[in-house]
Amino acid sequence: MKRSQIILIFLSVFLVGGISGGLLGTFVFSDAKNANSQTKIIEEPRILEFVTTHTLCGHTSTYTEPQKQIFESTEQIQSTFPEWIIRRVTDEKITLERETADYCEYHYFAYLSGNTIFIETRNGDVKKEIDISALSITDQERQSLTDGLYLNGQDALTAFIEDFTS
Ligand SMILES: [Zn+2]
Repeated sequence: MKRSQIILIFLSVFLVGGISGGLLGTFVFSDAKNANSQTKIIEEPRILEFVTTHTLCGHTSTYTEPQKQIFESTEQIQSTFPEWIIRRVTDEKITLERETADYCEYHYFAYLSGNTIFIETRNGDVKKEIDISALSITDQERQSLTDGLYLNGQDALTAFIEDFTS
């Protein structure tokens, strides 16, 4: 691909991103401004709540942290967290949202390779390895483990690990 083409593509992605970001921003700002007019200027520290919707499984995950800086305006919140959409601003809490095209952390894939079971998150990060060389397992079990299986949820993961470690 020619250099100029690459630059063009980069520019159009940038532009489209900028325009949609701007539209989103306008929408959110008007929402948050209403909240501001009711609660006045944001002055004291509050909780920041980050809500991620994982579009591949539909679950949301949330984490919170104390606000570390004072925000003078909604715009300042937005520029501090450019990848997030401001959903709600109250006296106690600022809620930020985003969507990611992945699974939440509670989906796993387990498979056998050699004498080791690898448990990975659905995003491909290895979470645990279990050495099963001391266990006696049937050929059929070995085959199905080699094909691998999906574990949905923390309980399924715990049950699976208990099966091979106790
Ligand atoms: Zn999920």
